[in-house]
Amino acid sequence: LMAGRMPGARAVLDHYTQIITQVRTPLTTLDQQSGDGDFADNLLTGLRHALTRVEETGEDGLTAAGAAFLDHVGGTSGPLYGLLLDRLGTATAACPDGHRPALPALTKAFAEGAAAIRRVGEAQPGDRTMLDALTPAVRALSLARESDDSPLTTAALAAIAGARDTAALLGKRGRASYVGAHTLGSPDPGAIGVALLFVALADVYEP
Ligand code: ADP
Ligand code: MG
Ligand code: MG
Repeated sequence: LMAGRMPGARAVLDHYTQIITQVRTPLTTLDQQSGDGDFADNLLTGLRHALTRVEETGEDGLTAAGAAFLDHVGGTSGPLYGLLLDRLGTATAACPDGHRPALPALTKAFAEGAAAIRRVGEAQPGDRTMLDALTPAVRALSLARESDDSPLTTAALAAIAGARDTAALLGKRGRASYVGAHTLGSPDPGAIGVALLFVALADVYEP
């Protein structure tokens, strides 16, 4: 999938944009079931602004994405994704040669991103939000060892399992908290979006 591409934050940005574009319709349907249907478009707005920003400033792709989401994306996901991508960008910007950030830096970035999301969004794991994908992925990273070849792939699998399991959770935060049992059986779109971010990272850095 990533053949011929320089690995690095810009490649993650491009690949994540491609993935979200491909799943835009089902992701929109999920957010229509539990909210207002704008989640995929919010992501694509942020990703488009991120790309413009990279091309104008030459900065790290994920650092640019953090700023773009904070500056240009409304809704709940805009600021929360902005906080996460900004922390991740700190780790990738320290690796200009395109190598995967070292495991401690990656783990720290995601742990700080998750803490910022909890602080601002006031949600806990189990509330049916993006934290239900992010928290198990952070745990997987923190349990990985420096010698592991594919910690991001392991983290992606944990995030996917966490996102899938949100189908059984009642929404406690955001718009999903207004629709109650109506969402049971379908997963939280924000959790799917975060799981796909780990998929994009794993594809780029651990092909
Ligand atoms: P909005 O509901 O404002 O339209 P989006 O559609 O952009 O927001 O994003 C919806 C996603 O945001 C949800 O699927 C959920 O994962 C996440 N979310 C909602 N509220 C919170 C919160 N308080 N903390 C963390 N994530 C949240
Ligand atoms: Mg929405
Ligand atoms: Mg909205």
